[in-house]
Parts: sequence; C-alpha cells; structure tokens
Amino acid sequence: MKEIDLRSDTVTRPTKGMLQAMMTAQVGDDVYKEDPSVNELEQKLADMFGMDEALFFPTGSMANQAAIKLHTQPAEQLICDKWAHVYNYEGGGVSFNSGVSCKLLDGDRGMITAEMVKENINPPDFYHSPLTSLVCLENTTNKGGGACYDIEEIKKIRKVCDENSLGLHLDGARLFNALVKKGEDPKVYGKLFDTISVCLSKGLGTPMGSVLIGNKDLMENAIRVRKVLGGGMRQVGFMAAAGIYALDHQVERLAKDNERATQISEVLNQLSYVDKVEPTETNIVIFYLKDTSKETEFMGELSKANVRISNMGQGKIRIVTHHDYTEEMHQFFLKTLKVISL
Ligand SMILES: *Cc1c(COP(=O)(O)O)cnc(C)c1O
Repeated sequence: MKEIDLRSDTVTRPTKGMLQAMMTAQVGDDVYKEDPSVNELEQKLADMFGMDEALFFPTGSMANQAAIKLHTQPAEQLICDKWAHVYNYEGGGVSFNSGVSCKLLDGDRGMITAEMVKENINPPDFYHSPLTSLVCLENTTNKGGGACYDIEEIKKIRKVCDENSLGLHLDGARLFNALVKKGEDPKVYGKLFDTISVCLSKGLGTPMGSVLIGNKDLMENAIRVRKVLGGGMRQVGFMAAAGIYALDHQVERLAKDNERATQISEVLNQLSYVDKVEPTETNIVIFYLKDTSKETEFMGELSKANVRISNMGQGKIRIVTHHDYTEEMHQFFLKTLKVISL
C-alpha cells in the first residue's frame, strides 16, 4: 500500500484531466490582465456567487489579508473566533499588513453567533477603544473540525453588521465542502458577504491558487493591494486552468471526502483509547485520546502502517480526507485503526 497521507487536503497531486487542461491553457501576462484563462476563472467565480468581481491570488492567506486590508484602516479592530485562520495561521498578517487588532470570541468549533458579535462591537463614539470595522467568519472551520455554519445564523450576523456599518468577510477556504454538504447555492453566500475567499488548492485539488470574490466598491482596490503584497503574477493561466477544471469536475466529489470522514469518525468513536471525537460534518475529523501521553505511540503505530495524520497540539489530533485518498486506502485505514491497541 502506498503512503496514506491524511495530514491535510493540500497534499493532492493534479489529476490527468487537470494536467491536460493546464497543458493546453491559453495564457498571457496577468499583470496586464491579459491572461484569458485567469480572466475566465475570475468571471466564472464572480458569476457563480452572483457578485461583481473576482481576483486570483497565489494563496488563501494572501486573499484573506487583502480582504482585511480592503475593509479596514490602521488601528481598527476586526471580530473573529479565537480559532480563526486569519488570526492563528497567517503569520500575524492582520497586524503586519493592515495594522489591525483582532477581538477574539469564544465560539463553538470555530463558529460565532450574531449575539456574540453584537456584544463585542466597541461603541463607535468611545474613542479610547479601537473602532470595530469588520467581522470575519470561516466556513467550514479548520481548527473547529470542518464545522459548517447554519445559514440562518449568518443572516443574523449580516443584520448586525448592517446595523453597525461593519464589513463581513468569509474565509471560505473549504466553502465548497460546506456547499456540497448542505446543498446550498453559492449565490446565497454572495448576497450575505461583502467579500469571500475560496481556495482551489484544498479539496478542489489544484497545485495552487485562491480567489477573492466581491462587489465593485470594495474590489476596485483589490488589484492594488495584491500588488503591494507581492501577488501580481504573469502567465498564471496554467494554474487558473487547473482551477476551472476543478470547478467543472471536482466539486461534486467532495461529498465522498465528507462521507469518508464521517465513517472514520464513527470508527474512532468505537475505539477504547479514543476519548472524544468532535462532530464530523465535512472532511476534517478532530479527536482526542483518553491518555494524551500516548499520542506519540499512536502516531507511531499508524506510521508503521504507512499512514500519516497530524497532531495539532493541546491534545487535538486531526485527519483530513481528500481527492487522493481512495476507497482502497479508506478500507485499509479503517481496518488499521481497529487493530491498534494502546
Ligand atoms: C488553508 C486555509 C487558508 C489559506 O491558506 P493558504 O495556505 O495560504 O492557501 C485560509 N483559511 C483557512 C480556514 C484554511 O484552512
């Protein structure tokens, strides 16, 4: 059996069809906005979400950071969950790039509520505290174990944002996993958020690339901010073509990743040495061992079977299913879990 890499859904290789699409892509200099494949990808995503514009970025972090810059002025504050990627995993970019601080909320599996947002907006006329100007949500949540928001809660958060003149950004790195899971229409998200970032390099399986989608008023400056961050790219249509291919051929199959994660979660729940498994909604499984001192032994047993997973610290162990995790690997992994004894 080949190595089974369940550390992340970013470990995938492009499929034959994707490589073919890349090889035959029409390209041009995207800094001049003359790359037809990039233009097509951007238009496709803007249309899909019913928003005015979209812009291709090398990474999801850069797309999020650009969005935060577009929504805020230095010394202002954004509101997000304590586990948010924008706060924890983007190298402190919120303060470095935008000079903005984060008000961290103690949400449920990375998700916050309208009520919590409302309670945490600094009074705009109280000049001692930073001016709250933006709310960032994550769907699905990464550190929260692939949890999906209830769209009704997002509508309530939108209302609070409108009442308080706050921007609303969605870190949708794995939004397609949520859309497939819930059978939701991207246009509903396009109506609720001012900006949305989506990753093509996670479940969708491209080698690189994220897209920031938004309406004209905010997106007008996006290309300038991307330039400042060093994200102006040339014949990057080869990568955009991979994105177009993924959107056409590799979205529906995310249901498989979601389903296999649920099956892994069910098996873990039955194991004597597992303490708790977080509810599994999409392609991420987070769980804890009863005896956390046995984490190394557990990971060692798995690696003997050529299976890699990640230890996120604080007792959290994470498994992520993806395109290159086949049914054969899945069955082997489930069997392997059942015979490990700690
Ligand atoms: C992966 C990820 C991103 C973007 O990360 P990059 O590695 O910069 O592409 C953003 N948000 C979440 C929740 C993610 O999981």
